[in-house]
Amino acid sequence: MLTLYNSKTRKKEPFTPLKEEVRLYTCGPTVYDFAHIGNLRTYIFEDVLKRVLFYNEYEVKHVMNITDVGHLVSDDDTGEDKVEKKAKEEKKDAWQLTSFYTGEFINDAKRLNILGPTILVKATDTIKEQIDLVKILEEKGYTYIIEDGVYFDTSKLDDYGKMANLDQREAGKRVEMRGKKNPTDFALWKFSKPEEKRQMEWEAPWGKGFPGWHTECVVMSAKYLGIPFDIHCGGIDHIEIHHPNEIAQAKAAYGENPANFWMHGEFLTVKEEKMSKSKGNFYTLKDIKKDYPPLAYRYLCLNSHYRSKMNFSREAMQGAKNSLRALQNRFDDLEQGSGMVSDEYKKEFLEAVNNDLNTPRALDITWSMLKDNQISDQDKRTTLEDFDRVLGLRISETREVPQEVTDLAAKRDLLRRESKFDEADEIREQIEGFGYRVEDIKDGYKITKK
Ligand code: AMP
Ligand code: ZN
Repeated sequence: MLTLYNSKTRKKEPFTPLKEEVRLYTCGPTVYDFAHIGNLRTYIFEDVLKRVLFYNEYEVKHVMNITDVGHLVSDDDTGEDKVEKKAKEEKKDAWQLTSFYTGEFINDAKRLNILGPTILVKATDTIKEQIDLVKILEEKGYTYIIEDGVYFDTSKLDDYGKMANLDQREAGKRVEMRGKKNPTDFALWKFSKPEEKRQMEWEAPWGKGFPGWHTECVVMSAKYLGIPFDIHCGGIDHIEIHHPNEIAQAKAAYGENPANFWMHGEFLTVKEEKMSKSKGNFYTLKDIKKDYPPLAYRYLCLNSHYRSKMNFSREAMQGAKNSLRALQNRFDDLEQGSGMVSDEYKKEFLEAVNNDLNTPRALDITWSMLKDNQISDQDKRTTLEDFDRVLGLRISETREVPQEVTDLAAKRDLLRRESKFDEADEIREQIEGFGYRVEDIKDGYKITKK
């Protein structure tokens, strides 16, 4: 039985999907810069969740958004749009900027062996639907207009912010009211400032502007999954603002909480402080790639439970790199041949991952299995391959796939998801030119030597 911690009820609950297929929504990246490895920790946790669902033989429909507009520098709906700000600073086209960083995000995800979503949607591709949602909220009397935009009146819902500890939020933060009716009210549609020419803006009944950040996820999840769906995920910071604001809109517009389970991954910290762009204490995958293989970072993440803070340090990375290498060497030393998955260890492994994704325990079980003299080498090999469906450490794959090839494969995967099949085929040929073959597998792809 799979049990997952549900932030909505603040307890572990048995998980069963509402319909046959599990419908999963994960909040995606804001694509104004490279993701840092803290962001990537959240996507690794979500990937483990998805792999555990597959391991339990569920089908999964996974939708992820790309925030390419509307995420402001401050959570109080003030400050510049992160994308516009960066485009201005670098004198770049905002559309090219977001498309570049979307590609970089996808490359990072592939390097970490994160399975691609079934559907990846850009916020800018659902502007019409977002405007339609604001219209519904307006018709139902949940909105009001102030100088800089259309806002959601959170006092109209009895249980606004139930999932968050809002007392704490209000005590800890001084919220600028700027004409808002309640401190927790949030922007649904922001007006373009008359003196400022935005690159990304749209006409709407209330005035030219752009959508508030919290609206896109409501629209995309409802559009592609239908509500209520099964699981909604994000980083722990979303418990306070982004997710209560999504829930508020869905409740107001459609009368219900959009998701059955809400799951949140804890932060990656550096010297016990949250890793963040604004603090400047961050590393990207590119930064650490020079010294450590990306999958060593995945190993490091697996070695902490997703609901525990994880501290990043060079020593911890070195330890993970050594362990990953030891695991790969162990696999390579094991005799080939069709073995059997060890029932006893599979049972233990499944119990661990089904207990709210206890990956540190799953790694311990993996090592115990490898050290167990009662199990034949062939069985160890097959059992490790089976566990790697969840761990995602590419244990059985060719070790040295050149970077150019993995990057090309990631690019091809994106093109395929965007239905640009001719361009994707051209890239497949380029990959073959390097002596590799890319094969599409369930919800992802595999690179093998020709
Ligand atoms: P963003 O691209 O800023 O929208 O953030 C992407 C995801 O990373 C969100 O789900 C955040 O909650 C998450 N996140 C941000 N900082 C960290 C961190 N230090 N550790 C883990 N997750 C984080
Ligand atoms: Zn979201």
